[in-house]
Amino acid sequence: RNIEKSLEDFNTRTAKLFNYFLINGISGAEKALEYYQSRNLTTDMINKFMLGYCPSKKGWLFNFLLKKGFQKDFLKKCGLFSSKAPDYCLFSDRLVFPIFNTRGIVIGFGGRRLSDNSKFPKYINSPETGIFKKKNSLYGLYQSIDEIKKTNSVVIVEGYFDVIALHQANVKNVVAPLGTAFTIEQANILKRYASDFFFLFDSDSAGLEATYKAGIIAEKIGVNPYCISLPLGEDPASVLEKKGGDSLYSCVIEHFEKKIDVFKYILEKYSKNTILSIRDTKEAVIKKMFGYISSIKSSVRREEFFELLSNVIKIPITVLKDDFYKNFINND
Ligand code: ATP
Ligand code: MN
Ligand code: MN
Ligand code: MN
Repeated sequence: RNIEKSLEDFNTRTAKLFNYFLINGISGAEKALEYYQSRNLTTDMINKFMLGYCPSKKGWLFNFLLKKGFQKDFLKKCGLFSSKAPDYCLFSDRLVFPIFNTRGIVIGFGGRRLSDNSKFPKYINSPETGIFKKKNSLYGLYQSIDEIKKTNSVVIVEGYFDVIALHQANVKNVVAPLGTAFTIEQANILKRYASDFFFLFDSDSAGLEATYKAGIIAEKIGVNPYCISLPLGEDPASVLEKKGGDSLYSCVIEHFEKKIDVFKYILEKYSKNTILSIRDTKEAVIKKMFGYISSIKSSVRREEFFELLSNVIKIPITVLKDDFYKNFINND
């Protein structure tokens, strides 16, 4: 209990400190600010998401926090420093994204490398602590929760910058998982506030695979999985950067009305092979779509998708269903 409260206070104070550095462009933060601006993002979003910069000078943060009265033992467990070199800050020289819980308390951080130096990972997250469990947390939920409730819908994207880009483009019901796949726990959290889930993952093969898996999770918990697609190779942040907020806004809004089912979207992509590099056989596509159908509880909805599959793949629905119930479900 006590340690958890201290971690909450500690993280929130540290986020404010990093934010102060970024806003004022001090201790090396100029380049972080420049990088941020180069991606077409505004100061308003820095404030809304309390973005920050963690200076690179070795040992300074550790010593600064010691002087502020935090104990050495506490600092070793707080999640900001390396377990091998206790005074080495994990977020050193990174743009920092504080991760909030729904009460507006900072529970952890994400950090993006500023240089192209691929010796270091592009993104890192805080390790898990007593108050930070990645599978139960969503980036942007705190800033988006009102709009999610109001619209009964939520947009799920891949990354931090995608959440921010969409807020800037005036789409404010957006969250992202934390560098891992979208989990059933995260889905259940969102289900409390919304029943329409719009997946807007990167328009690449990894994004398509993630959409398939996320769609299955949504089916399992009984919410409506829809899809928002972008031009090949793009993500929300890259659309904002290249084409601006209005363009990103209209692209997304259009999909809110269209409500393209994940099943339909995936089926189309797989069968037309517009993203995958190897041509999938009919059997492979059927198996994949069977995997999706088996996660659906409602027989009516299953029927609807069998029909769709039958039309696209050009195999009689009776044959498909026979195969599904005799061979697929049994072996699974
Ligand atoms: P950027 O727009 O900043 O260049 P990106 O769009 O290329 O990032 P992706 O590769 O699409 O980033 O990854 C999406 C998200 O996945 C990131 O925002 C981050 O949360 C997470 N992520 C990516 N790479 C890593 C990594 N090496 N470790 C942990 N999380 C990562
Ligand atoms: Mn990606
Ligand atoms: Mn991306
Ligand atoms: Mn991106």
